[in-house]
Amino acid sequence: MVNAETLRAKLLAWYDAGARDLAWRVGPADNRAGVRADPYRVWLSEVMLQQTTVPHATPYFLKFTARWPTVMDLAAEEDGEVMAAWAGLGYYARARNLLACARAVARDHGGVFPNSEEGLRALPGLGPYTAAAVSAIAFDRPTNVVDGNVERVMSRLFAIEEALPDGKTELKRLAGALVRDERPGDWAQALMDLGATVCRPKSPLCDRCPVSEFCAGLAGGEPETYPRKAAKVARPHRNGVAYILTRGHEVALIRRPPKGLLGGMLALPTSDWRAIGWDDQEALAAAPVGADWRAVGEVEHVFTHFSLTLRLLRADGDADGFIWTPRAGLDALPSVFLKAARAGLSNLL
Ligand code: SF4
Repeated sequence: MVNAETLRAKLLAWYDAGARDLAWRVGPADNRAGVRADPYRVWLSEVMLQQTTVPHATPYFLKFTARWPTVMDLAAEEDGEVMAAWAGLGYYARARNLLACARAVARDHGGVFPNSEEGLRALPGLGPYTAAAVSAIAFDRPTNVVDGNVERVMSRLFAIEEALPDGKTELKRLAGALVRDERPGDWAQALMDLGATVCRPKSPLCDRCPVSEFCAGLAGGEPETYPRKAAKVARPHRNGVAYILTRGHEVALIRRPPKGLLGGMLALPTSDWRAIGWDDQEALAAAPVGADWRAVGEVEHVFTHFSLTLRLLRADGDADGFIWTPRAGLDALPSVFLKAARAGLSNLL
């Protein structure tokens, strides 16, 4: 039986002694002295960290906060500038939600984030996890902050056999039972640190774990096998053609429609993406302009919900209706198109 108060005390003491130094974090000593993290920075970091590692997100966070130090600065920026700065972080719907949320904070709240979970939750594009995290970390409110790391820690501590995703409700309940009014922001971050650095997905470092004496998963001998997972559904595969039209040192780009996958982003023109492959005739018929198209290879890309093979066709030409972009400017493309452009232009660069 886990003694919640002792477990909390041990984990918080561990956090006090070795909290990760993160660009957006106020350390535990400062936090105890009443210094609070800037809600804008906490919110921005949490949005960036969804599906992205700390080392990958940190340079983006530093770039964003140097360029847009406050939510008002971000809210006033043009969509294209923010989208371009986001390129490489993936999941572009998040960048669109980021802007919608920043503008709502600027317009409806005078640039000040609401200080309650409910108030945060009412902002556009700000989900329950982010609302709980900002509320705990920036406002020191006792909210239940549960992401994949916390689910993993709970599933191991309590040896929960119910497989994900059904088991999420119980894991959330267990995490909630450990939240107290005392130091809720530090508690949330201590759990995050434990999941990220010690209770790691593949090989947990149980001999360094401050709460190992309470861990039912470790006592059972196979802590790394938690959380249990339901059998995986195969990710569907799609096929498409990307067209690389060059005019001297420029490449023809388009802006994708605002809604849908990679909405509003700069892109190479492509065919539809479909389950069956594209033969040569179909690929030529779907080209955005008539030109002397040549096959120059293909690239693979994996999105969250499907994988994609893009055949690459390249031609020299000129036409209206494109965003002609110097090759040096292609870095602002989302990863899939940057990969396609680099592969398709490789023997020209
Ligand atoms: Fe995770 Fe191991 Fe600690 Fe259990 S003892 S919480 S499995 S690191």
